[in-house]
Amino acid sequence: MPFVLFSLHGDHFWLPNSATMRPMNMQQLTDNIAKVRSRVRESAQKCQREESTVSLLAVSKTRSAGDVRNAAACGLRRFGENYLQEAVGKIEALQDLDLEWHFIGPIQSNKTRLIATHFDWVHSVDREKIARRLNEQRPEALPPLNICLQVNISAEDSKSGVVPDALGELVEAISKMTRLRLRGLMAIPAATGDADQQRANFAQLRQLLPQVQQQVPEADTLSMGMSGDMEAAIAEGATIVRIGTDLFGPRG
Ligand SMILES: *Cc1c(COP(=O)(O)O)cnc(C)c1O
Repeated sequence: MPFVLFSLHGDHFWLPNSATMRPMNMQQLTDNIAKVRSRVRESAQKCQREESTVSLLAVSKTRSAGDVRNAAACGLRRFGENYLQEAVGKIEALQDLDLEWHFIGPIQSNKTRLIATHFDWVHSVDREKIARRLNEQRPEALPPLNICLQVNISAEDSKSGVVPDALGELVEAISKMTRLRLRGLMAIPAATGDADQQRANFAQLRQLLPQVQQQVPEADTLSMGMSGDMEAAIAEGATIVRIGTDLFGPRG
C-alpha cells in the first residue's frame, strides 16, 4: 500500500494514501451491512436477547476515509481502528460527521496522547502504565475516555492482554482514575472454526465481568466477536461485536 507523509501537532506519520486505495462499491457495502445486521438480529433472537443490546463496531482499519463516510451514510456510527497513524488521518478527515471512534489495536506508551485526544473508547488497555498515561492525557474539554480491559483468556496465542489473575488489581487502579471510565472487558481469542470452542473462549470472558462489576458496578461491556465468530460471541453475551471483513471485504 502506498504511503504519504502526514504531520499533525508536530508529529509526523506515514499514512496510507487513501486516494490510491480501491474504494468499496457502495451497493456491496450496503448489502454487507444488511447481512451483518441480520446475523446480529438472528443471533440475538436465538438466545432471547434484545437486538439493541448488541452494538456493531465497524472495524475500518486499512479502509479509506471515503469508505467510512459511505458506511456512515448507511447508518453506522461506531468505528474501530488498530493503527494509530492511519486512524488519526481518517478521524481528522471525517470531523464533519458525528462518529464514535474506538481504538482496538496494540498501544505503545509513546502514542497514548494521540489516543487520548482523538478517541472515544479504547478496547485494548492491558496494563496500568498505559491507563495512567491515558488518564493524565485525556483533555479536560472531553468527557472521560471509555476503557475496556483486554484480557488474555487462556485460548489466546498472543502475549497481549492482562491475565485473569491480575485483572482485579488493574481494575482497582483504573477505578481511581477520574478521566477514565471503565466499561468492561475485551478479548481476541485464537481463531477457530469450532463453534463449541468459540463459545468456551467467550464464556471465559463473560465469567470475568461480575468480578469487575463488584469493583465498578457500571461496567456493562463485553467487546468480543469478529466476522468469523460473532454468533458464538452474541450467544455468550457480547455487547459490542467488532466486524471488519464481513462489512468491508477482505483486507488487501
Ligand atoms: C481486525 C480486527 C477485528 C475485525 O476482524 P474481522 O475478522 O475482519 O471482522 C476485530 N477486532 C480486532 C482487535 C481487530 O484487530
